[in-house]
Amino acid sequence: INVTKHFKVRSGMLGLQAGTVRAVDGVSLTVNKGETLGLVGESGCGKSTLAKCIMGLESVTSGEVVFKGRSLSSWDEKKLRRNMQMVFQDPYSSLNPRQKIGSIIRESLDIHHIGTKEERKEKVIELLRLVGLRQEHGQRYPHEFSGGQRQRVAVARTLALDPDLVVCDEPLSALDVSVQAQVIGLLKDLQTRFDLTYVFISHDLSVVSHISDTVAVMYLGRIMEIGPSETLFADPKHPYTKALLSAVLLPDPTRQAERIALTGDLPSPMNPPSGCPFHPRCPEAFDKCRRGRPNLMPLDTGVKTACWLYGSE
Ligand code: SF4
Ligand code: MG
Repeated sequence: INVTKHFKVRSGMLGLQAGTVRAVDGVSLTVNKGETLGLVGESGCGKSTLAKCIMGLESVTSGEVVFKGRSLSSWDEKKLRRNMQMVFQDPYSSLNPRQKIGSIIRESLDIHHIGTKEERKEKVIELLRLVGLRQEHGQRYPHEFSGGQRQRVAVARTLALDPDLVVCDEPLSALDVSVQAQVIGLLKDLQTRFDLTYVFISHDLSVVSHISDTVAVMYLGRIMEIGPSETLFADPKHPYTKALLSAVLLPDPTRQAERIALTGDLPSPMNPPSGCPFHPRCPEAFDKCRRGRPNLMPLDTGVKTACWLYGSE
């Protein structure tokens, strides 16, 4: 019997509107209970779409999402919402400005008829404390809060239903660096306490590596490189990962790689380049890269990378 909560995504193409956008193309991921999977990439790389597929908010054209050993499609919608929650980039837009913080946090408890009225009140106070806010904060409105506090409210709301999986889509990108560190600390703390599983999405590789056990680097809907967070950060192999990492300021300047500037725009996912999708922008591209698309290949560092520099097939 598999007691770990296993969670897999195998999604194929997504049909959207008129054209077929290959938003997420043959992505295969697994995240174990209590761990964090980080998804990194530029905006438009398909990470938000993938997040929505994981949440069951977007249907997959082919492939399937398996959550706790069961296909997502076989889950009851209400039960699913209790098990999976999402934290968004901009907490301000997801919090009703005319609603008091306490009632925002209590809302899902009300919807799911959890506990008595008194119990729900207690739960809200407990949730506020858990995210480092005080009881009286529940009487205030979202605009009376700083960005960091609003994100704490969003996290409290997320935890109201005791979910197993929380998908965080760019939860820190609207926050100052010092506040980002606090929210990361909070998320990690909550993860340990409640054995939460996270899918953590960001364009910032350094942020992701601080919280993730495993990191997947995405480009045009495909995974370019995936592996243990530390290894990927210390020893990136894929030219795209190297470029992302070179844009990150490291605390130790002797380790700072020379910045690799990516030239050209992100190609349209409607019309992805032939061969390696990264070849038009890759500083290390060679002949073969234009012709064939490399698959993820395991390296002896424990990382898998999709690049012709590391494989001969
Ligand atoms: Fe660059 Fe070629 Fe590797 Fe793609 S396969 S990342 S183009 S070197
Ligand atoms: Mg996005």
